Amino acid sequence: MRYPRGVAIVAVFNQKGGVGKTTTALNLLAAIGQRGQRPLAIDLDPQCHLSHVFGVHPRTAEDSIYSFFTRQRPLADIAQITKSGAILLPAHLELAKLDTMLGKGVNVVTRLRVALHEPGALPGPAVIDCCPLLNVLSLNAIFAADLLLVPVSADFLSLKGAEQVERALNALEPVFKRRLPRRYLLTRYDARRRMTAEVEGRMREVLRAEEVCVTRIRENVKLAESPSMEVDIFRHAPGSRGALDYAALYEELLGAGFLR
Ligand code: ADP
Ligand code: MG
Repeated sequence: MRYPRGVAIVAVFNQKGGVGKTTTALNLLAAIGQRGQRPLAIDLDPQCHLSHVFGVHPRTAEDSIYSFFTRQRPLADIAQITKSGAILLPAHLELAKLDTMLGKGVNVVTRLRVALHEPGALPGPAVIDCCPLLNVLSLNAIFAADLLLVPVSADFLSLKGAEQVERALNALEPVFKRRLPRRYLLTRYDARRRMTAEVEGRMREVLRAEEVCVTRIRENVKLAESPSMEVDIFRHAPGSRGALDYAALYEELLGAGFLR
């Protein structure tokens, strides 16, 4: 890698919605910020949830990462600094149009990767919040990422989504000529529910056990509350299980060399 020290790109992806992608992106970014690094948040979901949690609502698509994809507008011109000190490349509803506009050619799906590799493009680690489709935006995230982080909420449909991700990544392997680094993260973990244990057991059977995070994100109402207040879990409830679990995830990824 030719990145400066302290820099890595994590894409948070699952083809299923509602599994904790945005929650994970938000709180991983916050954990990075807490360590004194300036994280780059990239919102590639037309639903704009991550941008909204940061209190950013671009008026037009031109003010969002849409213009980077449509007319190669420099990322630095789109970037906004958030209240929490992260740098945000915000999303816009019109991102949903990009598939029909751009197609999926190699030059298109590597556009974000190329831009993030420009000297000085990354202030610190980047975290990309993806949408629940394997579209041109998610392909850009996958091609740019050093690590794919796949949240799997503790239910069977979410596990199906993870299996779909696994198949999609394996299909891309001939292009990358290597196994794409990935970690599956169990979210909304509730030890009292039998389904949680069943999903966890199945995860270790159908996925590679070493690619399942040791950290589990427990079901925690504070995690669900904090976005409506436009804050991350460390600001909203620093002593909560959610804060402890996302701090543990940060440490695990750091220890595994995925964050620097
Ligand atoms: P996605 O981005 O994959 O669609 P979200 O991060 O938006 O998923 O999470 C879906 C819903 O689940 C949101 O309402 C969120 O607040 C809630 N949620 C996510 N993780 C947890 C958790 N560990 N405990 C409780 N609620 C959670
Ligand atoms: Mg989301």
